[in-house]
Amino acid sequence: MKRILVTGGAGFIGSHLCERLLDAGHEVLCVDNFYTGARRNVAHLMGHPAFELMRHDVTFPLFVEVDEIYNLACPASPIHYQYDPVQTTKTSVHGAINMLGLAKRRRAKIFQASTSEVYGDPTMHPQREEYWGNVNPIGLRSCYDEGKRCAETLFFDYHRQHKVRIKVARIFNTYGPRMHPNDGRVVSNFIVQALKNQPITLYGHGEQTRSFCFVDDLVEAILRLMATGDEVTGPVNLGNPGEFTIRALAEAVIRLTGSSSQIEFRPLPSDDPQQRQPDIALARNMLGWEPAIGLEAGLVRTIAYFDELLRNDAA
Ligand code: NAD
Ligand code: UDP
Ligand code: UDP
Repeated sequence: MKRILVTGGAGFIGSHLCERLLDAGHEVLCVDNFYTGARRNVAHLMGHPAFELMRHDVTFPLFVEVDEIYNLACPASPIHYQYDPVQTTKTSVHGAINMLGLAKRRRAKIFQASTSEVYGDPTMHPQREEYWGNVNPIGLRSCYDEGKRCAETLFFDYHRQHKVRIKVARIFNTYGPRMHPNDGRVVSNFIVQALKNQPITLYGHGEQTRSFCFVDDLVEAILRLMATGDEVTGPVNLGNPGEFTIRALAEAVIRLTGSSSQIEFRPLPSDDPQQRQPDIALARNMLGWEPAIGLEAGLVRTIAYFDELLRNDAA
């Protein structure tokens, strides 16, 4: 049994990770400032004797005694990370410094939730870990992209300079229950719009592509990465290589919800990547992992979650 810190643990991915770690018999300290996360996401864990929830902002130092750290704290959707871009960069950069300082002091293994956004609007397709990316340093997405890139730099420098054991994953679009209903991400937007029979807001012509990974598959990969030997540092791509146009996603959501919603075209946001698909050969070889849950099966489970959420909100 280990004492494990999960920063951003009351968020979408973090809450699923806390659950899996508790199931495996570990003690979990969930740290979150509730910027985009919510107590609701971990309410079902509150009675668990091995679970502790702490309100804390990772841009400030944190002195706790733990054996492993999963650093997930950071707003992840464009609406939220662009709302206070300076805080977004601080969270990635100062948050990484503090968590790496903690890992160094405790000699704890530390996982970093990096992102496919480090590839920017990629000119290499699909994206492999060797690709250095095509990122605008001064655009609206830069607070997130460059913040996460700098966090990767810090992880590798703490590893080289201080021998901190690091595990860096570049996570591609992930979806599932407990996504924030108003965070503007495409899967949650389309599902909520479809369930309310409101217009489906398709940005651009909908020909841009993304690859969507169901959260249970992602969490399994994160746990396998953390269990690898100390020589494994990453970065490793984690995601589902199935590539879909956003228009195809809209059509699937309408069909699976039986909605009467119509598609409504809206302008494409700036710096919106045209294509994104992970090359997961490294994860396959190193972790013996690949996603098991296809888009339709994952959407059905996510739709069920939002359906219940909307019913309860309406009640
Ligand atoms: P989320 O917004 O649901 O979770 C992030 C959590 O971090 C929230 O609970 C939020 O309150 C917390 N947080 C934000 N700033 C904080 C701070 N300064 N101090 C403490 N807590 C803070 O998003 P998510 O989708 O669960 O993302 C989790 C991690 O995975 C993020 O680091 C994100 O960048 C990364 N990621 C997610 C995706 C995806 O598709 N969901 C893709 C790539 C990377
Ligand atoms: N830090 C922390 N918790 C710890 C140890 C360090 O939050 O348990 C913070 C510390 O306050 C510092 C940062 O992590 O701001 C980086 O720590 P490091 O030891 O690398 O740097 P230094 O303290 O020498 O600046
Ligand atoms: N998108 C869309 N309608 C929406 C929300 C998003 O067409 O209501 C598009 C968006 O322009 C992008 C894709 O869906 O091309 C994925 O957007 P999201 O914000 O979920 O993730 P990211 O751009 O970070 O991959």
